[in-house]
Amino acid sequence: MNLWLALSVGLVAGLALGLLLRGRSSSNAVEHEFSSEPPAGNSERVDGLVGEELLEAVSEGVIVLNDVMNPVLANSAAREQLSLDRGFGFAEIPSEVRSMARRAFSTGEPVVEIVEVWNPRQRSLEVNVVPLAGEAGAVVSLRDVSDEQRAQTIRRRFVTHASHELKTPVAGIQALAEAVLEALPDDPEAVERFGQRLVLESERLGRLIGDLLDLSRLEDPGSFLDKPVDLAAVIAVEVAEIGPRVEAKRIRLQTEVTPGLFARGDDQQLALLVRNLLDNAYRYTSEEGSIEVSLRRELEGAIIEVSDDGVGIPMKAQARVFERFFRVDEARSRTSGGTGLGLAIVKHVADLHGGHVELLSEFGEGSTFRVHLPLAPETIGSEAT
Ligand code: ADP
Repeated sequence: MNLWLALSVGLVAGLALGLLLRGRSSSNAVEHEFSSEPPAGNSERVDGLVGEELLEAVSEGVIVLNDVMNPVLANSAAREQLSLDRGFGFAEIPSEVRSMARRAFSTGEPVVEIVEVWNPRQRSLEVNVVPLAGEAGAVVSLRDVSDEQRAQTIRRRFVTHASHELKTPVAGIQALAEAVLEALPDDPEAVERFGQRLVLESERLGRLIGDLLDLSRLEDPGSFLDKPVDLAAVIAVEVAEIGPRVEAKRIRLQTEVTPGLFARGDDQQLALLVRNLLDNAYRYTSEEGSIEVSLRRELEGAIIEVSDDGVGIPMKAQARVFERFFRVDEARSRTSGGTGLGLAIVKHVADLHGGHVELLSEFGEGSTFRVHLPLAPETIGSEAT
């Protein structure tokens, strides 16, 4: 339970107890408590209206049950979360919440659980039932934790998937190392063959770890640099970097770059975006193919485009290529040194910079990745300067 909720529940529980006791009888103890120190201001308003107003001010759902478990107060958040009409009865509260209330009542101890409700849509609620002193009733508070639960599920799946991906090259390295030991010293040719494959597997492991680290850095908001980035300069560095590999494959690499376009953000991240797109274009284009890189202005945005005439992406896979670890052709991705994370990184960087990525591709013909980024005021000739 977060601090705000704890404070709210405490406050509501205090008020609820006051209201419930007053409703049951004109208890001398309660009256004495108030009359010994007369509060300044309008006490009737404090006693009545403020209780309901306070419930409405709390963003969590709150229901106050009396000593026979009848709902006596509920804010609109609670009614919305549980699809209840005004004046609902105990029987209309979802059964899991009812049984939690009964337990809290019978044990006198608070009960906290995550409850799934389906009406009108699925959501996860953290339900907290706090019994009131003197068996006067109970306060039920409800916090929507659907987003947190969803994020946790995604994180759990990602860790499982990443561990599985890491296991494969590690198992390969282990098997190859054992094979080298067995081949020693009589079969130097086998040792060399296994040694070469050992290098490839360890490179693959290194790339996977590198991509995982890049992704985790992207998810750390503290590491995001917010400064003007000269997009032409970023592209020039990455094009120069991939140059020798492209040449060795006799691929024609053409660039058409408009200078003076600036985006606001992190130059390292934008470099990573361009590097991943170039690396994919290089890996999924056959020898003597061609790659084009361009940077241009369109209205108040910049467009970075990387096109190739390589293998292309089938239509039905196009919507999924930005998912982590998704590969159109598992074997091809692995042999070309893919990790399945490159485009997830590209999409993440574009999102973090307020942009988006578009994919145009035809299977067997080639692919174009078009990144749209908002321009920074530093852009030469920008109206924003
Ligand atoms: P990988 O490391 O497997 O290349 P990515 O996330 O970079 O992972 O890309 C996901 C999948 O999208 C790849 O496995 C590949 O099938 C496809 N893909 C990405 N870029 C291209 C491209 N330029 N041409 C053809 N297919 C591509």
